[in-house]
Amino acid sequence: MSRLGTPDNPLTVAVVGSGPSGFYAVDALIKAGIEFRVNMFERLPVPYGLVRSGVAPDHPKLKQAIKVYARLAEAEQFNYIGNVAAGRDISIDELRANHHAVILTCGAETDRRLGIPGEDLPGSYTATEFVGWYNGHPDYRDRQFDLSHETAVIIGQGNVAADVSRILAKTVDELKHTDISEHALDVLATSKIKNIYVIGRRGPAQAKFTSKELKEFGVLADCDPVIDEGELVLNPESEAELENTGNKKIYDLFCGFADREAARDRRCIFTFLKSPREILGDGSVERLLIEKNTLSGESFRQSARGSGETFTLDTGIVFRSIGYHGIPMPGVPFDESRGVFSNDKGRVMKDGTVERGLYTAGWIKRGPTGIIGTNKADSVETVGLLLEDLDNLDSGENKRGAEGCYEVLDRRNIRHISFADWKIIDDSEIARGEPAGKPREKYTYVSEMLALLD
Ligand code: NAP
Repeated sequence: MSRLGTPDNPLTVAVVGSGPSGFYAVDALIKAGIEFRVNMFERLPVPYGLVRSGVAPDHPKLKQAIKVYARLAEAEQFNYIGNVAAGRDISIDELRANHHAVILTCGAETDRRLGIPGEDLPGSYTATEFVGWYNGHPDYRDRQFDLSHETAVIIGQGNVAADVSRILAKTVDELKHTDISEHALDVLATSKIKNIYVIGRRGPAQAKFTSKELKEFGVLADCDPVIDEGELVLNPESEAELENTGNKKIYDLFCGFADREAARDRRCIFTFLKSPREILGDGSVERLLIEKNTLSGESFRQSARGSGETFTLDTGIVFRSIGYHGIPMPGVPFDESRGVFSNDKGRVMKDGTVERGLYTAGWIKRGPTGIIGTNKADSVETVGLLLEDLDNLDSGENKRGAEGCYEVLDRRNIRHISFADWKIIDDSEIARGEPAGKPREKYTYVSEMLALLD
């Protein structure tokens, strides 16, 4: 038989997940110039993963990546199989049986835990829930957020914490022409929140915001960024950290915030060297017990240590935004401590041995770090390994690709969605958004999406 990846013997690949790393894997396969077919599996009917349901609605430029993915989806080698959860509706073994290679790009779907008492009290939420809710992700559509308190607390100082705080800080006028979901905008319109505390366990030199995102707090219509000048004093190790990193820009922005007069209705208060120790309340969140920290360790490796000094902060709502964590999938070796599939640069590994034909890319490969573009190089690396392995893949003739998978799905009465189906949903969402001057009004229930196709 001719070599895999040639016209007589095209490579068949399953990509699991339709977010950035999945599409960048398709891009890398196209650029490799081999003969191949790819079936992209997505749990929801709608594609694009975190670009659709993670990127903040007021960051439309970041969503431009979708245009690139839509063009890739037009490639003749590409086939979309939406509304199908790999590992549930079709097993990884069934995907492997029907494809020469499977690339898992399903992202990090849950949150890290703080591990403190009261973490699950009503009123204490994960960033994932809130972000999914305002972005119209069906999993979070029916979450309820009580915004009737004056004080909200966000734990963590990364870009997700920035998104959550900014959405809470913005006025309806600032959001109403974005693709924020209508149900969320309606609730945000009733918000009584005046004080938004954004709490970091380490200091201002270690905050993980990027400067572009932090700068946005300086130009909000009805919210001032607030920082107590005294919190910006640095130890020598932190000063050294600022010298050679982009965090100098962040620190300068903080200094600018500290100089401002807070005159607007809302305040976003950045505070450092504090860790939540307990979320307190009788049936729901009422207070947060916080311990002040000190930094210890050498530059770039400083960690937060509790000082023993504690205080409480009254609040009705807490958002934990301390990073994401991948979830396991039946049939795939999982590294629980890192929340990723066990892998070596993208080759999935079991007990130190390569799992032939099984690959991974994106957050579920390397952990939840980096911006959308970071996933491109990551997927290129993984596809590079796949191409190196071409002669060693199981090249059996029984790799039936989409046809074999449709047979499995039809046997189980699993409805699958094509890219043409998605286009119908896409067009309808865009049309629904028009009257309100929004780029789109998303469907937020899977049943609505399927009913539209009926
Ligand atoms: P992140 O950048 O890793 O930030 C997590 C934050 O949580 C850090 O401040 C971290 O502090 C803190 N944290 C972790 N464990 C904690 C604990 N036990 N107690 C208190 N604080 C704790 O994660 P993220 O904000 O979820 O973002 C994930 C990735 O997506 C990042 O690469 C981010 O840049 C990217 N993203 C980008 C955009 C954008 O480009 N606009 C938007 C959203 C997300 P330590 O530093 O001390 O660990």
